[in-house]
Amino acid sequence: MSIQANIAQITLFLQHTSCKLIAVTKTKPVDVLMQAYEAGCKRFGENKVQEMQSKYEVLPKDIEWHLIGHLQSNKVKYIAPFVSLIHSIDSFKLLQEVNKQAGKVNRTIPCLLQIHIAEEETKFGLSYTEAEELLHRPELATLQYVKIIGFMGMATFTQSTTQIRKELRGLKEFFEKSRTWQLPPNVAIEELSMGMSSDYHIAVEEGSTMIRVGSSIFGSRQ
Ligand SMILES: *Cc1c(COP(=O)(O)O)cnc(C)c1O
Repeated sequence: MSIQANIAQITLFLQHTSCKLIAVTKTKPVDVLMQAYEAGCKRFGENKVQEMQSKYEVLPKDIEWHLIGHLQSNKVKYIAPFVSLIHSIDSFKLLQEVNKQAGKVNRTIPCLLQIHIAEEETKFGLSYTEAEELLHRPELATLQYVKIIGFMGMATFTQSTTQIRKELRGLKEFFEKSRTWQLPPNVAIEELSMGMSSDYHIAVEEGSTMIRVGSSIFGSRQ
């Protein structure tokens, strides 16, 4: 199937929901991104800072750029001027650096806390306890150039839809619980980024507001 047909199919699946599609364009060349853009998709997810920056420079300026991969503090400065949403905040230190770089370019950068919900050891992210602690740190209120708008999570890579559903449902429950907390003005929990090619159908059923889909649109990556 073509990129256009794949996007149309996912868009159809998402109609009557308020869930947004982030097309994961990592490793794909800019002409491929332009095909997605022409098919109406204007939110792109990248996992590497340099790759996102070089694509940003040559592509239309109405594209939203979502950083979905692990972010090193020393690279925040390259994306601060243009990034729409950072999905992968996994420490307070990183959040402080985003605040610093956002201040330099006089922007407020929306961020998600990445939560480790999978069984695998290798995936990045905060535990539920660590995320709760971060949200309750008194110094968080002083970070005036960041806004925490929700959470991102990745389920275990498994055939077991029972397990996937359980992990995604757990994140949704944490999301709902956190919305009842008294938090500073730079926190407004509204977005839940969960669901990839293999599990976005389940994620939408479990309350995702943003799915991050790569291979189901563009085919498998090398
Ligand atoms: C690569 C990636 C995706 C998309 O994966 P697909 O299986 O190709 O849909 C989603 N989220 C993150 C964080 C990724 O790194």
